[in-house]
Amino acid sequence: MSSDAAPSRDFIRKIIDEDLASGKHKEVVTRFPPEPNGYLHIGHAKSICLNFGLALEFPNSRCHMRFDDTNPSKEEEEYVQSILADVQWLGFDWGEHLYFASDYFDQLYEYAEHLIQTGKAYVCDLTPDEIREYRGTLTAPGKESPYRDRTVEENLDLFRRMRAGEFPDGSRVLRAKIDMASGNINLRDPVLYRILRASHHRTGDRWCLYPMYDYTHPISDALEGITHSLCTLEFEDHRPLYDWTLDHLPVPCHPRQIEFARLNLAYTVVSKRKLIKLVQHGHVSGWDDPRMPTISGIRRRGYTPEAIRAFCERIGLAKNDSIVDMALLEYCIREDLNERAPRAMAVLQPLKVVITNYPAGKTEELTAQNHPQQPEMGQRTVPFSREIYIEQDDFMEQPPKKFFRLAPGREVRLRYAYFIKCEEVVKDASGKVVELCCTYDPATIGGAAPDGRKVKGTIHWVSAAHAVAAEVRLYDRLFTKENPDDAEEGKDFRDYLNPESLITLTGCMVEPSLANSAPEQGYQFERQGYFCADRRDSRPGHLVFNRTVTLRDSWEKTKEK
Ligand code: ATP
Ligand code: MG
Repeated sequence: MSSDAAPSRDFIRKIIDEDLASGKHKEVVTRFPPEPNGYLHIGHAKSICLNFGLALEFPNSRCHMRFDDTNPSKEEEEYVQSILADVQWLGFDWGEHLYFASDYFDQLYEYAEHLIQTGKAYVCDLTPDEIREYRGTLTAPGKESPYRDRTVEENLDLFRRMRAGEFPDGSRVLRAKIDMASGNINLRDPVLYRILRASHHRTGDRWCLYPMYDYTHPISDALEGITHSLCTLEFEDHRPLYDWTLDHLPVPCHPRQIEFARLNLAYTVVSKRKLIKLVQHGHVSGWDDPRMPTISGIRRRGYTPEAIRAFCERIGLAKNDSIVDMALLEYCIREDLNERAPRAMAVLQPLKVVITNYPAGKTEELTAQNHPQQPEMGQRTVPFSREIYIEQDDFMEQPPKKFFRLAPGREVRLRYAYFIKCEEVVKDASGKVVELCCTYDPATIGGAAPDGRKVKGTIHWVSAAHAVAAEVRLYDRLFTKENPDDAEEGKDFRDYLNPESLITLTGCMVEPSLANSAPEQGYQFERQGYFCADRRDSRPGHLVFNRTVTLRDSWEKTKEK
């Protein structure tokens, strides 16, 4: 499965193929319609890749970027800006087609009067609790509102006075007149408009009356000439209302709503409502905390747009909800960075090694490949000197059988440098190993011994005099439960937060070429994983690296244990 292969014909593409073949449409117009009430998450990426992807695939087609901003009490300009930045970062372009549902408030209002005039909508004075009570349940039919049979004149008068601000918030609503006995609760005279005195991020205080999502969405689609309105499965039961609304209004066209399964990711949550709680209660450092499944979070962690797009392509489109394993997302970023990330050496938990037969004060600049399989990525030099750091894990005083790294009396290869042999182990008063004394063999430069003797292990290192100190943040799953949404009785999804989702290592030592690394530039720290400088906290003189992903799936192994 390569990412430049033609996308497979899923059920949505098949529908579009038919619509183009039959002449029903000559072009495809889709939209991505987020509500600006939070930052986008990886689930939204699926919808973005689908909608913008279709527009790129089909001739003369386009995808509209539209904000569904009908609920001023939860929406903010900050979210609008972050959403636009995230869509662009993912690699998509709406061109001139940036819209806001709030741009249609006048038209939506006129259409509401049209529904009143044709006897399809009425003003209802029941309280919100009463409306709920009258609505009935899945098994019991609803009850008609006593205000249902108001005359057109009375409805128009009341609706206009609602707009004029004559009534308090929540005192009256406009409802569609459909069917209180419908098997579909969404058709039991749904609310179309509510009174709400809240300042809107775009229309300010011009309105005290706001349209509901189910009324706004189909009309916005129709006004923009959307051909295929793609949404997630939870809207399947709303489709009859989508169609009812368009059937009863003089709209320019009637888009087709098609539902697909939302993306759920294991060990995390994808719902803005839940993510906002993590931010507001300080469980994470912000929307872009690298543990968050938000686009800004995984970007900060070091994911690339290419990897996210490849992931969305691999998961495909289905009609049933399922939970996708995080391992697939990690596979996609590993595959991308393996190709593109330059290699570097970093010692996360340093152990000092003194090479006793190497001249004090001497430095050699040794040549290192930036990428073992991509010679065009060039070379760099790494300084070598008498004192170096190696990884604590790369030494064992009493090594088990298959440990091929350093141990007393054993020889190991230093990547891009020499063989060294451990001659002496220096310990502190508590018995902890604090330093190794080694000797090197000058004839082994280049990684082989002229006498043909072999070493099995190659380890990474940095020169102590030249290394740059860094903080390294290791991330793990944000939750310990595969589906935190499915909380046990009396528990909340936040009860399953993983206390070890962030481990901060200080005093790490990285090779000097990393001293000025740009935020989000991914590196493979040899033998460790992929890392990038943190865009918020890293600066020259205070380097902070995020671990994007390990080299292999160490989680699976931990679980097996
Ligand atoms: P949330 O519950 O996180 O707020 P939402 O559906 O309310 O999600 P919107 O801003 O309304 O968020 O979503 C914009 C678009 O993204 C919608 O078309 C929605 O169907 C789609 N979308 C949201 N979450 C997912 C998901 N997990 N997988 C696929 N598409 C999604
Ligand atoms: Mg929503």
